[in-house]
Amino acid sequence: MTFVVTENCIKCKYTDCVDVCPVDCFHEGPNFLVIDPEECIDCTLCEPECPAEAIFSEDDLPENQSEFLQINEELSLAWPVIAEKKEPPEDAADWDGKTGKTSLLER
Ligand code: SF4
Ligand code: SF4
Repeated sequence: MTFVVTENCIKCKYTDCVDVCPVDCFHEGPNFLVIDPEECIDCTLCEPECPAEAIFSEDDLPENQSEFLQINEELSLAWPVIAEKKEPPEDAADWDGKTGKTSLLER
């Protein structure tokens, strides 16, 4: 199993999650974070830390977010590790909860 970052992280990217991950398995892209499924140890610590409620265990992934399993796997190979929290985008709160953000994911 692994944990998965889903659509609501796009353009929010609060990064609260990275501070608690014991194995530094978050990777950062331009406007989204992903979890490396090969490194995640299923510790569950990140899920309650996400203000955007964007992190799910693979087993609890909502049906309409299923494509993010593959997106996390693929982009974690391409993006660098982020291990420390940083300031979110200025307009992060404006995007929290918006639907249809998948098309805005920058790779
Ligand atoms: S805390 Fe949530 S919204 Fe912020 S970067 Fe992590 S997964 Fe994305
Ligand atoms: S479940 Fe644990 S190991 Fe996996 S990404 Fe979250 S904090 Fe990291």
